[in-house]
Amino acid sequence: MDKTNTELVLIRISGLDRPGLTASITDILSGYDVDIMDIGQADIHSTLSLGILFKCSEQDSGNIMKNLLFKASELGINIRFYPISCEEYEEWVSMQGKNRYILTLLGRKLTAQQIAGATKILANQGLNIDAIRRLTGRVPLDEQKARVRACIEFSVRGTPRDIDELQGELMRLSSTLEMDFSFQKDTMYRRMRRLICFDMDSTLIETEVIDELAKRAGVGEQVQEITERAMRGEIDFRESFKERVALLKGLDESVMKDIAENLPITEGVERLMYVLKRYGYKIAILSGGFTYFGNYLKERFGIDYVYANNLEIVDGKLTGRYVGDIVDGKRKAELLQLIAQVENVDIAQTIAVGDGANDLPMLSVAGLGIAFHAKPKVKANAKQSINTIGLDGVLYFLGFKDSYLDERGNS
Ligand SMILES: [Mg+2]
Repeated sequence: MDKTNTELVLIRISGLDRPGLTASITDILSGYDVDIMDIGQADIHSTLSLGILFKCSEQDSGNIMKNLLFKASELGINIRFYPISCEEYEEWVSMQGKNRYILTLLGRKLTAQQIAGATKILANQGLNIDAIRRLTGRVPLDEQKARVRACIEFSVRGTPRDIDELQGELMRLSSTLEMDFSFQKDTMYRRMRRLICFDMDSTLIETEVIDELAKRAGVGEQVQEITERAMRGEIDFRESFKERVALLKGLDESVMKDIAENLPITEGVERLMYVLKRYGYKIAILSGGFTYFGNYLKERFGIDYVYANNLEIVDGKLTGRYVGDIVDGKRKAELLQLIAQVENVDIAQTIAVGDGANDLPMLSVAGLGIAFHAKPKVKANAKQSINTIGLDGVLYFLGFKDSYLDERGNS
């Protein structure tokens, strides 16, 4: 087709969706020498919005539009035509090469206020929204139903003026409007993450095991206070670890088994682990807690790696000492990189999830670092966080849709 006597036409079709609409419309186009330059569709609550940009010869365009009009009226749908100039087309093509990002919003429910707030931040950064899709199942009208959550993913184009400022503003919004978000560069790595490293205490389980051990040893309050300060990042992890372990001296080994068998598993962990295993992720626990309990979770969920600390036991009693090197924040980050190397996974394909100050190094090293129900210092330094729902919220940040997952994964 000679460019001088061709025409570019955008058609926009809207109406009640049903099978066969796209076939009927494109069937008319196929009767002519027509090239499709772009096609896209959105379907919201049974209402279709379909756009087709096509190129045809000048002499055909009149007939094509006339036939499309007849067909639309026969089908009871609306159709509109927009002639596009070559300049407009070239400008649009040049926009396609720009950076792409994915903004995911997550919450117990989504409000207009949350979406208005988030999209305003995008607009202020000069970013354009290309597509919006819902990842969660349909939202029930009865909000009282348990485990309700809503997740929307925005596909965004452009280069943010200041990405740190953007992340910071989203983080502030998430605190005031009870929502979680992630803002990720949309690359193939984002779609092909392979390794996920979890903190254990207060992440996979809803407790700090060391505090439970201390309670049984009669030093509960003392140890709990030190743990809290360490997790908030107020005191050095290693020093506080030695101090707390020393206080456990004399505790009977059988207490460990009892605690391990009754670990309070965090909401969403069953579903998350099931889906991650099923889709071939490598899973690691990198913990400043204890290997004994990590191994318990390893067995239960089929976790691939556990790195944590070992308590010294002599004659069935804790000695108040540990064996080997302490897994602190720096070590967690090193281990994440090491496992990625062993598994032949690019660092961009790794995920880290944790709540404590000792998780910050691994959260910043990973391709995707998620603060989970985190201490304020951790949340303030993380790029994304989950606070409103359980740990399976991670799946939405990975782009999983509820409808992809089978019944068991969906429960
Ligand atoms: Mg923790």
